[in-house]
Amino acid sequence: MLFKERKTSLECALLKSLNNRMKLHEKDIQYLRNLEKGDEGERYFDSLTAALTCDCFVLNDLRLSCNNATFQIDALMITGETIYLFEVKNYEGDFYYERDRIFTKNKSEINNALLQVKRCESLFRQLILSLGFNMPVSASVVFVNPEFTLYQAPLSAPFIFPNQLKRYIKDLNAISAKLSGKHRRLAEKLSSLHIEESPFLHLPKYEYDQLRKGIVCDACGSFSCAVKGHAMICEDCGHAESVEAAVLRSVREFRMLFPERKITTNDIFDWCRIVESKKRVSRILAKNFNKFRGGRWSYYE
Ligand SMILES: [Zn+2]
Repeated sequence: MLFKERKTSLECALLKSLNNRMKLHEKDIQYLRNLEKGDEGERYFDSLTAALTCDCFVLNDLRLSCNNATFQIDALMITGETIYLFEVKNYEGDFYYERDRIFTKNKSEINNALLQVKRCESLFRQLILSLGFNMPVSASVVFVNPEFTLYQAPLSAPFIFPNQLKRYIKDLNAISAKLSGKHRRLAEKLSSLHIEESPFLHLPKYEYDQLRKGIVCDACGSFSCAVKGHAMICEDCGHAESVEAAVLRSVREFRMLFPERKITTNDIFDWCRIVESKKRVSRILAKNFNKFRGGRWSYYE
């Protein structure tokens, strides 16, 4: 049973939007690609745990803290007998293992997944003990990409490889121990301790004036959109969307990028660019938001 779901990554959405609207450094673009790839892997693993039939609580994406150290768990599963922690990796290609570390074929070390998962397990054990729960904990790194190969991995490493995943899930489904109120209390406690990280932490600096204005096509991300009657048509891919839906989508993007700014007709008119009149923008805002009077301009919430 899914107890805590994974939110869509706001950080990823922000970077995607910025990538459309300004020139990002190569390192930011690489960071975005890694986020997208990681998200994709986690979603795939979520689809597997969502189909589990054994008695369990699944908590996705937990950020916890113990003894002033913060740690992140991609997926956690509480069963009647054991707590499972999973670090999900969507690496693709050939890698090799040497002295507790993972390297790409051209010898550059990638994010140390093994160290990460060991640290996570140790901090998690301390945390649940401090909360008064004493249960066995098992932590693993799950490699979900079918195109992943790791040479020289020792038998003892807590790795689950793509071609083992099906069998692993089958074994989990065979767990017969039932959950009790104690397990529910633990799941509730862990959910309540989750720390939300600011999505703006690793973003490049940006300002309103720097960003390219206009509505982007929902299907292909192109700026070449034109308003024809009630519809907005993409000139690159032909995708059609109602003007209202497109404006509201742009308002959501504006809010995400500038959470501190108020939504005014002037701003949204400027932000969307392709809608021909302020009146039309104002009508759409009035229909979908509550209007407030403040200072010189009215704003919407
Ligand atoms: Zn398009």
